[in-house]
Amino acid sequence: MSDFDKLVADTQATLARVAAEFSPAVFASSLAAEDMVLTDLILRAKLPIGIFTLETGRLHEETLGMVERIRETYGYEVRLYTPETAAIDAYVRQNGLNAFYDSVEMRKECCRIRKVEPLNRALAGNKAWITGQRRAQSTTRAELAVQEDDAAHGMTKFNPLADWSEEDVWRYIRDNKVPYNPLHDKGYPSIGCEPCTRAIQPGEDVRAGRWWWENPESKECGLHVVDGKLVRIKSVPA
Ligand code: SF4
Repeated sequence: MSDFDKLVADTQATLARVAAEFSPAVFASSLAAEDMVLTDLILRAKLPIGIFTLETGRLHEETLGMVERIRETYGYEVRLYTPETAAIDAYVRQNGLNAFYDSVEMRKECCRIRKVEPLNRALAGNKAWITGQRRAQSTTRAELAVQEDDAAHGMTKFNPLADWSEEDVWRYIRDNKVPYNPLHDKGYPSIGCEPCTRAIQPGEDVRAGRWWWENPESKECGLHVVDGKLVRIKSVPA
């Protein structure tokens, strides 16, 4: 068995263990390349793991289009969690639609309303959740484990692709003809909300296109908490 085949087999085993021992479990998909690998592995194995995405209301058309691609390819309906309308209305009324450009605080408040609160709702009642984070995405993720205790959400968190390289991700996608977000072919290695993501130039950090107007030290997405602290992200996925 090649190293790559073993990597895939180990990941399949992790997902099967989550389904067997941590039910109910859910997978938080951003619909990016890593998450499409996990989607393919979960749905091919028909594992009882629910897949959801945070529909922030500000995603690219191409990203939302992946929900339809998943429906066509696998016959599976990804569950969408949307922000509370009243909270969005109040934010826009008081600050403006794009106030996240004005300050880090305004940006974090927008992420809290559009991502963090819906995520908490999506995770409630589950024993475990799954993400597509990889160790190689950042030095801050150097110790990312496949299995973590997520005390903030009171459950276990699995990062089944922790050991995968970017090359592994794309090899799996190619080998298995997995559908992927067309923005990846247009200079977007990391994809978030449309107004907060831009394409990057060759050689730039993969996260350079996310919240590019902010100092790297302020780039907290608010979704990932380690040892009770928000993870600072210089180059990790939201
Ligand atoms: S990424 Fe941008 S638009 Fe999306 S929730 Fe955060 S601040 Fe708001």
